[in-house]
Amino acid sequence: MPPKYPALVELARALGDSSLDLVVLAEGNVSERTGESTFAVKASGRSMANADERDMVELSMDPLLALLDDASADDATVAAALAEAKMKPDAPMPSVETLLHLVCQQLDNVRFVAHTHPVDVNALLCSVQPTALVDGTLFPDQVVVLGSHQLLVPYADPGLPLARIARQLIKDHVATHRTNPKVIYLQNHGMFALGQSANEAFNITVMARKVARVTLGTLAAGGPAYLSDHAAERIDSREDEVARRAELLRARL
Ligand SMILES: [Zn+2]
Repeated sequence: MPPKYPALVELARALGDSSLDLVVLAEGNVSERTGESTFAVKASGRSMANADERDMVELSMDPLLALLDDASADDATVAAALAEAKMKPDAPMPSVETLLHLVCQQLDNVRFVAHTHPVDVNALLCSVQPTALVDGTLFPDQVVVLGSHQLLVPYADPGLPLARIARQLIKDHVATHRTNPKVIYLQNHGMFALGQSANEAFNITVMARKVARVTLGTLAAGGPAYLSDHAAERIDSREDEVARRAELLRARL
């Protein structure tokens, strides 16, 4: 039998590369939309660097979607719904962040989602200036890969509370900017990258890491000098940059 979820496994391993400083130990997780109402997500406690298909759990979305709207849901209800959602009852338990993956997998043009805790991104998200990551755009390639606007979500308890807050803020973001965010920064926690392909989710993650490193550098040099909104919007719509974005989507990890 051919291996299952080859692109998802490749994405997990690429993100787990220790030289990138994106995750350590069992940190981080990845997901892939596998059907109309199914998705696969990394199992809880498994390492990204050594992931294989046995570390991925396929889930039905319906029991989990019901949870997001159930005001009376507690930790026991969440655990029961995660167990019920498993397509194979003997599969390992999915990651605690499965519900936020689900929220992201509901969005248009999203098929692969990567959650990491990059050191440089967290240096800002755990600082007194987390908004420095989303207040503006620093350089053209940032726009090509991350789009013009990224979303910052205030700290919330991982699991159901975080998924609910993020869902509302994504809705607000789409209403304001008429497009999904490609990056969701979680204050005092990490980031989610939302891609159409495994390659896009990887590219978004490593570009966000670079943006964080540059931002930290600017803070040491007197503060960020953002591009004007006009310049950022122009990069976002220029034909050669749109072509470059399409090329990046096609490229292999
Ligand atoms: Zn996390």
